[in-house]
Amino acid sequence: MVTSFGIVSAGLMLFLVTAIVTAFHSSIQHEVVHDHPTPYPLLNEALIFPSLILVYPFRRYRELHLTHHIVENLTDPNDDPESYFWPMCDRNKMGQVMKVLLAANNTFVGQMILGPPWACLVFTVLNFTDWWVMKKMYAKHGYFT
Ligand SMILES: [Zn+2]
Repeated sequence: MVTSFGIVSAGLMLFLVTAIVTAFHSSIQHEVVHDHPTPYPLLNEALIFPSLILVYPFRRYRELHLTHHIVENLTDPNDDPESYFWPMCDRNKMGQVMKVLLAANNTFVGQMILGPPWACLVFTVLNFTDWWVMKKMYAKHGYFT
């Protein structure tokens, strides 16, 4: 007989295992972005296929992350696509709830709890609603020319 406690426990265990496996897979994806472990990009990409980060494709992550590495002003929110900082003009327009969420996300516990869904949400919003912003950023750094 399966109890609701058993179903919840199994679901929680599945969630934790999936989170850990996805975290390790993400780490390996980062290495593949930087052309490791072999000198053959297609082979490297085959080794991490399929991507476990379901919210955006690996090649999009690759473009975005490489842009992060080539910007001159690392962490500048106007240049670095992986910056956690916000331009002051945008921050001044934010509501108090958003400011509290950002402050919480900048703590260790916040990064563990809010970080993954936050990153997925931000990337998805950027990817599908503000594609032109990313395209402009890519064009600035030599992509899509
Ligand atoms: Zn990197």
